[in-house]
Amino acid sequence: MRFVTFDKLGKAAPGVLTADGAEIADLSTHFASLLDVVDGGAAAVARVQAAMASAPKVAAATAKILAPIPAPRRNIICVGKNYHEHAKEFHSSGFDASAGKDAIPDFPIIFSKASTTVIGPNDPVPASADPTNSVDYEVELAVVIGKTCKNVPKAQAYDQVFGYMIVNDVTSRQLQARHKQWFLGKNLDGFCPMGPWLVTADEVGDVTKLRVTAEINGEKRQDAVVKDLIFDIPTLIETITSVMTLLPGDIIATGTPAGVGIGFNPPRFLGKGDRMRLEITGLGVLENAVA
Ligand code: MG
Repeated sequence: MRFVTFDKLGKAAPGVLTADGAEIADLSTHFASLLDVVDGGAAAVARVQAAMASAPKVAAATAKILAPIPAPRRNIICVGKNYHEHAKEFHSSGFDASAGKDAIPDFPIIFSKASTTVIGPNDPVPASADPTNSVDYEVELAVVIGKTCKNVPKAQAYDQVFGYMIVNDVTSRQLQARHKQWFLGKNLDGFCPMGPWLVTADEVGDVTKLRVTAEINGEKRQDAVVKDLIFDIPTLIETITSVMTLLPGDIIATGTPAGVGIGFNPPRFLGKGDRMRLEITGLGVLENAVA
């Protein structure tokens, strides 16, 4: 199922796309939010299926789609340098304050983005808020956790996943570099476009086959498949839950492929009016302009 959060008379409402994608079934009389659906797990998804036929419908083409999880309860957990070619381009860019002597990390690099970074599809990314004018894009597959879990072995990792969506890990490269710790450079308000859909794991199937792409002003910049991850999704879930409990609705952004702006020499930072078009197979298209 492809879940959405949409604007209903100025309030965020949960919905689900009909099979042909033409309409959104309004779930707001059944659930407060998509987090409410995620919390309810398989039983909630079964309730959605039962409610779909009789739920009020709105046309998907004219609805304002919001971020699927517009207000995450906790920071978005993010993974740095998790595709080989991107790890190399970042390592040699001059912006990698985390650099050891090797481009490829021995263990996953984990940081986070605050909930206040989240914006929805078509919302402008406020790049002018970056005092260093070094804003960059990062298309990423995001995993949405479906269960409270701790000490998850790799073999059981996918059982903890509710679904998947696209995030854009927008970054100020100068802030990322000069503060050493990546947090500030990743946490400007509005620097995490998300959506358009939260797609359930059963609908996605083999997530390692998904193609992850980004175009800037119509020019293809990033293009990879999820199986190219250095640390795959089971490894990430095992690593994170070896130290902390994950909760339903937690989001893990799994890292970005090669082709970001600092992969070019000189870097190609984003500026006002640039258009980002991110796509992952089956997860829709996430478009945002730079303001
Ligand atoms: Mg990233």
